Parts: sequence; C-alpha cells; structure tokens
Amino acid sequence: MSIVEHQETESRSRWAWLRDELQQARESCRYRQLRSLTPLPGGRVAADGRELLNLCSNNYLGISEELAGPGWSASDLRLAGATASRLVVGNHPSFGELETAVARLKEAEASLVFSCGYMANLGILSALAGRGDAVYADRHVHASIIDGIALSGARHIRYRHNDVDHLRGLLAKGDEFRRRMIVTEGIFSMDGDAAPLVDLVRLKREFDAVLIVDEAHSNGVYGQDGAGLAQEQGLAREIDVQMGTFGKAYGAYGAYVAGDQLLIDYLINTARSFLFTTALPPLVNRLNLRALDIVRDQPWRRRQLFDNAAFFRAAMRQRGHNIGASTSYIVPWIIGGERETLAVSKALWDRGIAAVAIRPPTVPAGGSRIRLSLMATHQRADLEYALQAIDAAAGQMHRQV
Ligand SMILES: *Cc1c(COP(=O)(O)O)cnc(C)c1O
Repeated sequence: MSIVEHQETESRSRWAWLRDELQQARESCRYRQLRSLTPLPGGRVAADGRELLNLCSNNYLGISEELAGPGWSASDLRLAGATASRLVVGNHPSFGELETAVARLKEAEASLVFSCGYMANLGILSALAGRGDAVYADRHVHASIIDGIALSGARHIRYRHNDVDHLRGLLAKGDEFRRRMIVTEGIFSMDGDAAPLVDLVRLKREFDAVLIVDEAHSNGVYGQDGAGLAQEQGLAREIDVQMGTFGKAYGAYGAYVAGDQLLIDYLINTARSFLFTTALPPLVNRLNLRALDIVRDQPWRRRQLFDNAAFFRAAMRQRGHNIGASTSYIVPWIIGGERETLAVSKALWDRGIAAVAIRPPTVPAGGSRIRLSLMATHQRADLEYALQAIDAAAGQMHRQV
C-alpha cells in the first residue's frame, strides 16, 4: 500500500462515524450543502451562471447593495482592519456613535454592539440567567437563543408558539426559580408571524419576569424609522432587553442590545461573547450607521416591502397554499415532508427562482417548508412570475405523490 493510500484508509476509518451520520442525513433528506451565490440588485441573485429571482433574502429592504454607494472617503476605508477586544484597545469612537443612535431609536437609556446576533444572544442569556433560574422561551425561537440558554445553565422551559395561556400556566407553576425570564422573537424568522407583545408585557409584570425580545427580523422595517415591532406598539420601554441585528433588513452586519444603562454596564462586565472577542472592524459600524440613515431617509423601501408582502400573502392564500399565520414579508410555504420540500425547492430553482427548503432541525419535524421572503426591490411582475412558478411546482408535487 502506498503512503497516500495508507493515509486515505486511515482518514476513512478515523472519520467513519462522521460519514455514517452524514449518510443518515442524506437518506432522511436533511443533508446540507453550501452553494455559491452572488447577490444582484433588483432582488436577484446569480448562481451556477444563471440569474434567479431571489425569494430567500433577509435583505428585505434591498439596502445591502446601497451601502457601497457614493460618500465613502479614504479615511473610512482605513477603518476596514481589525483592532482588538473593545475592553483592550478596540473601542473605536464609531461604536459610541452607533450605540447612541441605536439607544435613541429604541427609546432606551443605552445600547451595546455585539459582533453578530448569534454572539449577542449567547452573551445576553449566559450573562443574565444562571443555575436556579428559568428561561421561558417560545418553541420557535432561533438556535442562538437555545444555545444561549444551554450555556447559561438555567432551566429551559418551552411554551407553545405564541400561546400566552400556555406560558401563563407554566409561569404559575414556577415559583421555585430564583429569577425568571421570557424570551421571544418579534417577527418569527421561519413563520413570519408576530409575537403577542402586549400580552407578554402583561405576563412579565404579573410574574415579575424579565422580557427579552429578539427583533432580528423586525428591526429596520416596523416602527418609527424602522425602530422595530415593540416601538411600533408603544412597548419599547416595557421590553427589558431589546435585541436586534444589522444583518437582515439593515443589509449590513452585527447586532445590538438596548435597555437600561445598568443592564448595559452589566453586559460589558459579564457577557463573555462581548469580552473575549475582537471588536468588529470600525468600518462595519460606519456601514451600520449608514443603514440606519437609509431606513430613516427612504421610507419608500418599507412601504414597498409591505405592499409586496400583502399582495403576495393574499395571492398565496387565494391559491390555497398553506402559509401558516404569516403577517409579514416572511411567507413560509409549508409543505410538510423533507423530500417533497426539497423537490419543490428544486422545481423552483429550475424555473429561475431561488427559494430554499427549510427542514428539521431548523423547523419541527413535519413542518418542512419553503421560506419565501419578499423584498422592497421586487417588482409586481416578479411576484406574478413567482406565483406561476409556485403553482407549477405544486402541481408537479401533487402529480408525483
Ligand atoms: C439571524 C438571527 C440571529 C443571528 O444573527 P446573526 O447576526 O446572523 O448572527 C439571531 N436571532 C434571530 C431571530 C435571527 O434570525
């Protein structure tokens, strides 16, 4: 046996368990693969040498392609490099500028920028909750929240999606915990429906709990100047921890937490995903500040997004496609099984539509779906074409079943 063959054999046996697990994932249609894509203006994307209509973007307002526009100076570009942890020598003044702007927008005393939403949720939950505490989380919350709870050591108690009565029953049984926290998303990332924030605020008062709201998919779109769903409902000051991200509607990158100054001081001292990591390159703060300005100065983007979303949801329902309880620009086309969902996704790609299959564990078993998302930059004709393609893909699926 040659050395190369020997090494190959050894590598195969060393990783046999990985190969077995991946093979199982393939057989249950849960295997995931990277695909190379380039976003294009106008709600489009290039892949495999083709141009497709992008119905799976989080760049809902089409801002990401605006960020590189005119107005950047050579001194801005010097901000592209890394610095250090913010508590060492990485606290560039642009962090303060961004944090002041976010706090004002969110009607909070202060805010703190994290490198991304995943790290923000890990940091918030592991800093605020601990052994002896309970975190009551909606069943559909994002993986970063679930991981943050696990890291915190607190008891993770799930309540049925948006079911306030279920949550109340669980809270009523939870007297033994030292502190209690409720965590939800604003607009749910895989369902496109809104959390019952008014009821959650009432419950958190009644049970003296801390309320954490992740506005990753609602900030930049809802509320005054895109301040978010809580602000739109007059609840910004009632939400103890307002978390959000710059990587979705803002089209840039990073995340924030807004709340009382004491909360922010505490997180600076204890959130490990804040303390022990290199600060974002200051240029990213400039991008995020510019994104905040674009949202405020170009309200047509939000209007167009809401128009497109309302048209598309109504058309999907009228055609009898199951889009759950969506009230937003995230429109899940719920299909059920992994295999059918993958087949539908492929049929849509073949018709020039980028739409991805979302499968367990991202969604519950039996809840596989095509997560369709609208953009402000989609034209009505794009959406009409998409609806035709969706009907055709649905017809193909029913013939095969
Ligand atoms: C995307 C997302 C995050 C993670 O944010 P990143 O900045 O992408 O790390 C957190 N929470 C929710 C609900 C999200 O959709």
